[in-house]
Amino acid sequence: MSARILVVDDVPANVKLLEARLSAEYFDVMTASNGTEALAICHRAECDIILLDVMMPDMDGFEVCRRLKTDPATHHIPVVMVTALDSPADRNRGLEAGADDFLTKPVSDVVLIARVRSLTRLKMMTDELRMRAITSLEIGMQAPERSAVADTGKGGRILLVDDRESSYERLATILAAEHTIDVEPNPTEALFHAAEGNYDLLIVSLDLNNFDGLRLCSQARSLERTRHVPILAIADPENSTRLLRGLEIGVNDYLLRPIDKTELLARARTQIRRRRYTDHLRDNVQNSIEMAITDALTGLHNRRYMESHLATLAEQAAIRGKPLALMILDIDYFKSINDNFGHDAGDDVLREFAVRVRKSIRGIDLACRYGGEEFVIVMPETDLHVAGMVAERLRRSIAGEPFAIHKGAKRIEVTISIGLTTLERKGEAVADVLKRADTALYRAKHDGRNRVVSQAA
Ligand code: GH3
Ligand code: MG
Ligand code: MG
Repeated sequence: MSARILVVDDVPANVKLLEARLSAEYFDVMTASNGTEALAICHRAECDIILLDVMMPDMDGFEVCRRLKTDPATHHIPVVMVTALDSPADRNRGLEAGADDFLTKPVSDVVLIARVRSLTRLKMMTDELRMRAITSLEIGMQAPERSAVADTGKGGRILLVDDRESSYERLATILAAEHTIDVEPNPTEALFHAAEGNYDLLIVSLDLNNFDGLRLCSQARSLERTRHVPILAIADPENSTRLLRGLEIGVNDYLLRPIDKTELLARARTQIRRRRYTDHLRDNVQNSIEMAITDALTGLHNRRYMESHLATLAEQAAIRGKPLALMILDIDYFKSINDNFGHDAGDDVLREFAVRVRKSIRGIDLACRYGGEEFVIVMPETDLHVAGMVAERLRRSIAGEPFAIHKGAKRIEVTISIGLTTLERKGEAVADVLKRADTALYRAKHDGRNRVVSQAA
């Protein structure tokens, strides 16, 4: 994992200096001497992180940053402003432009490498999510970039862990102007509180009495419920070495006391925006995984999923010496439902059919749409006798109650035929089991439909 760092500065000596230090740590370094060049490199997605000088002729660093952060194509690239000035006003201008961090010239080696490493980890994770989410974009889902650029980062839920009353009262008052804020003065309760509260941001003081704030940060990082919640650490200046340690264990950002109001608000907004963006990406990935294995019309699993999962179920059954039942269900004269009442009515029947199937089977049973109006149900740990009863119950649940079509304006009789068999011989190919069930289904159709035919192995 070698990140590509873009160093932008109009003074060649400054570029050389940062380039040498970063190269020594095995980062790939690219350089640019003005804003226009830097924007072009970012647009070609050639860099992972950008170290951006503030004072440059033509376009200054603030403007470059603002353009990167308002463009959906580049807004996710972390921007570190490198500035000779260290006034709160300057920092705030940078934060307003969307900068992720600052380094003050002369840049300390330790801080430089710690910051770049921490941002690299974040960028790698975002890239991975973006890559996976591209699949969902291709199938027409909402692009998360657009909402991310529009997000103000306000209206978040924040948990502040701080045991000094004068400190947390001031911080809470500042943050309450833009967010909902909870204060947890007891560090031993904080992790539990964080896991329960569905927060967008944790702010943790590292100067707690008799408690190691970094331990809390590291615990929050390893706990499933809090792993993805950003952490903003707050520390006294003499604790700055612990802050570097914090960045290594996954603290996302920090502030030194005394805390500047505007900077606190800006950093909280940045973290909350990032959190929402990665959450959005993660949801997209989850959705696209679900879409890949689900039949859109009925919500049941699709054939591809069933075929790959059936092999696993058959293997497990063989290893544990348990039976495995499989049935193929086919709607009778379905073509005439389409012909007489229209394709939409046919779709209504398929959807309602899936609802009734789900009601009749157990959670561990696997139901899938195998083809047009053909379905497969696999039932682990079920012998032919029990499966026969389930199949009969299913048949009755379809034939016994007419199906609503045309938005409930009409009800029609529907029946199904079922072919049933089991896998009992160890190592039998699942294709053979499916074929046997299909032969049984054929007999059910041939014998008059609306019936179950079982075929022993
Ligand atoms: P049988 O009792 O022998 O099974 O007769 P059938 O009419 O049910 O069987 P056939 O295989 O001849 O016709 C199945 C029909 O299902 C043909 C196809 O147009 C229709 N079909 C397949 N997929 C869908 C779908 O998603 N929606 C609708 N409405 N119809 C579909
Ligand atoms: Mg049919
Ligand atoms: Mg058919």
